[in-house]
Amino acid sequence: MRTPPPPSDITTIFPALRGYERTTTMLHPTPGDPGVRDSSIGGPLLWPADEPWPRHAYGSRSDRAPQTEPLPLVPGAQLWVRDLPDLPHPPGKDLLQVLWVPDDSVDCLYGSQQGDPVDEYFRVFWRDSADITDLLPNPPLPDPDTGVRDDGILVDDSYLPVPCTLDPEQVTEYPPAWILGEEFYDHVREQDERLGTWYQAVNTHADGCKVGGWPADSNIGGPYHGWFTCDCGTRMEALLTIASMEVRHTPATAPSSYRTPAEQPMGMGTALTEPTGLAVGDHTYLQIFYCPTSWDHPIRRYPM
Ligand SMILES: [Zn+2]
Repeated sequence: MRTPPPPSDITTIFPALRGYERTTTMLHPTPGDPGVRDSSIGGPLLWPADEPWPRHAYGSRSDRAPQTEPLPLVPGAQLWVRDLPDLPHPPGKDLLQVLWVPDDSVDCLYGSQQGDPVDEYFRVFWRDSADITDLLPNPPLPDPDTGVRDDGILVDDSYLPVPCTLDPEQVTEYPPAWILGEEFYDHVREQDERLGTWYQAVNTHADGCKVGGWPADSNIGGPYHGWFTCDCGTRMEALLTIASMEVRHTPATAPSSYRTPAEQPMGMGTALTEPTGLAVGDHTYLQIFYCPTSWDHPIRRYPM
């Protein structure tokens, strides 16, 4: 079993959820040896020879010794539209590449550019792979085992993903409770208290690295202020969710009924894995949102 379906009685318990079903494609990363033409997390990128590798000028933080040279970003994810049916993408583009600065700047926990339209720590590239003929011969990558770059500088391995191949799976999910507003969120809490359940833990939404679908729910705060909004006023939608942990489901974690007591499916200590080695968002998520109105509007990242 990979990702069990949502409980069959969830819209009986919460009629407000009717119509909120969405599909998402789970990535299911597994450490491996992905190639430049594979979808991957932390794998090599199909990078054109005539395009400079993205770097960050660095040295802007007072608690860090300034570097003499700009720091190369590391590959976060390379995602092919052909592999991922729920990957939103601009017309004519078949490849998404995501890179970031390999330290806590990307986490937005230290005053970096969470939600900023211009984001120096995090870069997203859409490509038409047919345009790429010659590949950059020697991208400046840290050693995946040691995190050490050619110049001897160690990057933070919490933000340096173990190269992983992907095993995509399309599933149906419902939104985290905050999506439907404060009133619904409070209603869910009341119901859970009454039933001895836990909305977040009963497979209402798919948990792990995924594209499209609904945002994740970290249960450590979440954007209780509501949706993230583009400058144009449009609600931003989930493009890519990078999870620090994957859930390895067993029959015990997959109740068919919402009324299954919370204690039973929450043998989660043994069901969590960390295939990518990433510890983003205080061991939760790094989420990437896009504006459905226009692909020219900036893609933004938020911790959850
Ligand atoms: Zn917009």
